[in-house]
Amino acid sequence: MNGVEQRKTYICTICPKGCEITAKLDQAGELTLSGASCNKGEDYVRKEMLDPRRILTTSVLVAGGSEPLVSVRTQTAIPRRLILEAVAVLRNEKTIAPVRQGQIIVSDLLGTGIDVIATKSIPRQKS
Ligand code: SF4
Repeated sequence: MNGVEQRKTYICTICPKGCEITAKLDQAGELTLSGASCNKGEDYVRKEMLDPRRILTTSVLVAGGSEPLVSVRTQTAIPRRLILEAVAVLRNEKTIAPVRQGQIIVSDLLGTGIDVIATKSIPRQKS
């Protein structure tokens, strides 16, 4: 064993250059990064290792709308470990038409303080 406990490679998505950054976490817990062309990439990998987050996009049922579903997304990225639970919450959610783009569909998703908003408008169904 060469003392390396964990080694992982990331492609930085901050800019189009797409640097391949290798992160090594040794047995003492020291993190070494290589391959980044700038500090933004190193910050990106640190966050990916310590607190990975993603914007969640999905859809929610709409009652009485011209369409049965409205597309939604979290306003900002949520912890990746909560994604499956968040999808389950939103699968059971139902909103009522009309829905306007940007409307909050679920507030404070799973206690994250992050809202889920509609990404399109759904008018009422014409009778
Ligand atoms: S490390 Fe810097 S230069 Fe490389 S892709 Fe990330 S932001 Fe761009």
